[in-house]
Amino acid sequence: MEWEMVVGLEIHAELNTETKAFCACKNAFGDEPNTHVCPTCMGMPGALPVLNKQAVIDTVLVGLSLGCTINERSYFERKNYFYPDLAKGYQITQMNSPICTGGGIHLSNGRFIRFNRIQLEEDAGKLIHGDVTKIDFNRCGVPLIEMVTEPDLRSVSEITEFLNTLKQTIMYTGVCNCRMERGELRFDVNLSIREKGASEYGARVEMKNLNSFKNVGLAVAYEYNRQVNILESGKCVDSETRGWNDSLGETFAMRDKEDVSDYRYFRDPDLPDIIIKPADIESIRRLLPEPISAKLSRYAAIGLDDSVCRQIASDKYIAEYFDTTLKNYYDPREVANWILKDVLKIYDGSQDLPSIISSESLASIIRMVAEGRLTRANGRVLFEEVVATHEDPEKLIKKLGIAGLVEESEIVSAISELMKLAPNVVDDYKLNPEKVINYAIGYVMQKTRGRARAEKIKEIIEEVFV
Ligand code: ADP
Ligand code: MG
Ligand code: ZN
Repeated sequence: MEWEMVVGLEIHAELNTETKAFCACKNAFGDEPNTHVCPTCMGMPGALPVLNKQAVIDTVLVGLSLGCTINERSYFERKNYFYPDLAKGYQITQMNSPICTGGGIHLSNGRFIRFNRIQLEEDAGKLIHGDVTKIDFNRCGVPLIEMVTEPDLRSVSEITEFLNTLKQTIMYTGVCNCRMERGELRFDVNLSIREKGASEYGARVEMKNLNSFKNVGLAVAYEYNRQVNILESGKCVDSETRGWNDSLGETFAMRDKEDVSDYRYFRDPDLPDIIIKPADIESIRRLLPEPISAKLSRYAAIGLDDSVCRQIASDKYIAEYFDTTLKNYYDPREVANWILKDVLKIYDGSQDLPSIISSESLASIIRMVAEGRLTRANGRVLFEEVVATHEDPEKLIKKLGIAGLVEESEIVSAISELMKLAPNVVDDYKLNPEKVINYAIGYVMQKTRGRARAEKIKEIIEEVFV
């Protein structure tokens, strides 16, 4: 019998707003525990939530970039549960009426993975287990968006492509930095299997809180095999919630799948409905950055090769840096070349690109080389100095005495010298011009210590050796 996996994902992304979702506490990672807390996010009786407007705008930005419908009216509900990571005893979330519905992502194999909804909710605090369990409430109340797909995914490679595209899209909107090692992006994976071609879905297992693409892939492969084995031995898969054990590389049962009714959802009476008018949607849409597809065609139109377009357009920060450098010196191919070859060699994704070298400085080095004031090799020397010292390239050139190109007359005199040393050179040239030109270029380069351009030498030889 042939089996098919059916997977639906729930993806949580932490928004990078200045403050939390329902109070004025700072939204910050890695600070001293319990320093960004107040009566509201600590769940003190009588403390009331006030919705952070930016969190709504951010949710709409993600919804728009994934082609969702933005609902004019939506509201918050309370999801009740007892656990120490949420002091109120309930999470403010959305269930029946999310901000966004529909939308989806096209995969390269032609399939379309639909979103069921994208909703806004709050994160819980962080439990730190040890001899005793400690709680850090700094994360409690941080705005999260939950993106829920339909059960449309059918393989690990579809899941991987889907998650990569989703991450890229979210990063493009700028509302979440997607650093998985900080938990800014987390995944729950729902998986069932069925006979290939069947129309009904099987019983599903939900795997909670996977925190990397790699673990999602491993957990899916493990769980798929586990369920195939159960069905093939004639037993039934239990609907349950399972965890992922990273060191054993296997999933383990945590609890029976909870029912919606377990959470006693009801509308949060402390928060008014969210109203987003068509005009609001349009003004939010104007905040959206240029989509990758538009960037790709813009770069192709200014003459960049396909692979270069992709390398630049796929990373929002590289694209921004390219665009500003181009404003300072307009030569798309040269600028792309310097960024991809020289700047990215130093970039590890954690620094800001302009902190490596400013767009202005990079542009001015590229200009010096293009205008023939510097050889390319000396351009690189200067580049490295600017990266190391952050000084102005013009000043550095003088300070270091980085030599520019030699005058034309120096090339001419080197060539006359060569003609004296090797009187046959002109006759040889007529027999085998290419060989002699290469030889002469070598000679002149040696004499000028590399400070001449090969094209210039060739040009002069062609005039002199006739
Ligand atoms: P819950 O809140 O209980 O997890 P949801 O209705 O929000 O339930 O669904 C969660 C996810 O489970 C969705 O991504 C959905 O696509 C997926 N899902 C639902 N049924 C199945 C199934 N039979 N097999 C695999 N995934 C499923
Ligand atoms: Mg779920
Ligand atoms: Zn607070």
